[in-house]
Amino acid sequence: MKEKEFSEIVQEKREYLDETFRDSVATISKQGTRNYIFPKKPNGRFYNWRTLTSIIYLAVFFTLPFIKVNEEPLFLFNVIQRKFIFFGQIFWPQDFFIFAIGLLTFIVFVILFTVVFGRVFCGWACPQTIFMEMVFRKIEYWLDGDAHQQKKLKELPWNAYKIRKRATKMAVFYFISFIIANFFLAYIIGMDSVLAMVHEGISANLATFISLLGFASVFFFVYYWFREQVCIVVCPYGRLQGVLLDKKSIIVAYDYVRGEPRGKLTKDYTIAEDKGDCIDCHACVRVCPTGIDIRNGTQLECVNCTACIDACDDIMEKINKPLGLIRYESEENIAHSKKSKINWRLAGYSFVLTLLLGFLVVLLLTRDDVDARILRTAGQMYQSLPDGRISNLYNIKLINKTRKDIPVSLKLENMDGEITVVTKNLVVPAESYFQTPFFVKIARPLITKRKTPIVLGVFQGNKKIETINTTFLGPGY
Ligand code: SF4
Ligand code: SF4
Repeated sequence: MKEKEFSEIVQEKREYLDETFRDSVATISKQGTRNYIFPKKPNGRFYNWRTLTSIIYLAVFFTLPFIKVNEEPLFLFNVIQRKFIFFGQIFWPQDFFIFAIGLLTFIVFVILFTVVFGRVFCGWACPQTIFMEMVFRKIEYWLDGDAHQQKKLKELPWNAYKIRKRATKMAVFYFISFIIANFFLAYIIGMDSVLAMVHEGISANLATFISLLGFASVFFFVYYWFREQVCIVVCPYGRLQGVLLDKKSIIVAYDYVRGEPRGKLTKDYTIAEDKGDCIDCHACVRVCPTGIDIRNGTQLECVNCTACIDACDDIMEKINKPLGLIRYESEENIAHSKKSKINWRLAGYSFVLTLLLGFLVVLLLTRDDVDARILRTAGQMYQSLPDGRISNLYNIKLINKTRKDIPVSLKLENMDGEITVVTKNLVVPAESYFQTPFFVKIARPLITKRKTPIVLGVFQGNKKIETINTTFLGPGY
């Protein structure tokens, strides 16, 4: 096909789409009321993959609070007491710079990831989507049936059957919300504390129990009623898509070049020659949990859940057309009828994303359990000792970021000398600061300058945990 002819076709199809384009949110009616969505139960290879992914995801979510490393939880986000543990490493307010760098790296990661892979996170890893689509929605299908049965139930007058159905669903949803709230609490105060409270009973922990009920009620509200509105009107990440995506980003997209103009299947299950592959069956719309028609192009409501891909693939299979009329694809490739493949852009961005992830991991893993600061005591000059040595007074400040006491020792590393700590035992108590003065004594002939650089090693057993460079004052001749 000549380039001119191709661009004319694209233009025609764009005009066709413009005519059918909407400028309102799918879940709000013209009267301003909520359009409640009843998506049909999805089915297909992407749905199966997402189910498998979510099983792994949920297993990790509910298992992590039980995992400990060196008697510490693997993860803890205690915002109340400002204690944070990532991968078993305790972070203190002093580690703020790691948080800041980590956060910046994470933001850059999210931006780059979205530029390349669109909203893959929303569909496959966001807790809201996982819990909504893979836990609560599945339970809803199980209790109330598929979309048409749910619609029927909604339209029924309030009778014993409907009350029983609704009460069962509410009870099950609230129970699961309560369990989720407990696990979120475990991520904040630790599973040991949660289990201890359970053991002590409600009366001994009334305030915590009331807070738990509050959080469970929020989860219940979100999953029972608010649902897709979280993604559409609350989530800041969703709102940012308009500025993060470009025409090369990979998104769930409808191939309008192949699909338009839409036509109906004929009686003998064929499509008229002048029509595209879309038979306007609305299967893709019926499964959409945010109530949109992906054929209108990328929309802010689309959480890339892939349900419409499965629905359309099923139709394409039935009418003997190639799969992928709706697929993961970039706008650019759709317009030029190309398929996504690994290119320099994808490889380059993925490389940078891997580097950023690596940087985050290194930041986390190279953080010290003990921080040491050594300063020469202010206002103190050197002292000449009767045995001919010179002595300087220093102050060491140690921060123990672990939950166990750590005995430490000091060594002079770059010359011979003696260190005398004023405190008998240099033990830093768990999760505490500790400071003590100490003397460094060096033989007079070794001190030839007014300020001699010295290197002090801080050791935990035989393991060096910090090297500190400072200066040693002497007479200077
Ligand atoms: S348009 Fe498709 S991918 Fe997007 S939310 Fe709807 S069903 Fe999911
Ligand atoms: S499921 Fe496929 S064929 Fe049916 S309306 Fe959607 S895009 Fe067209």
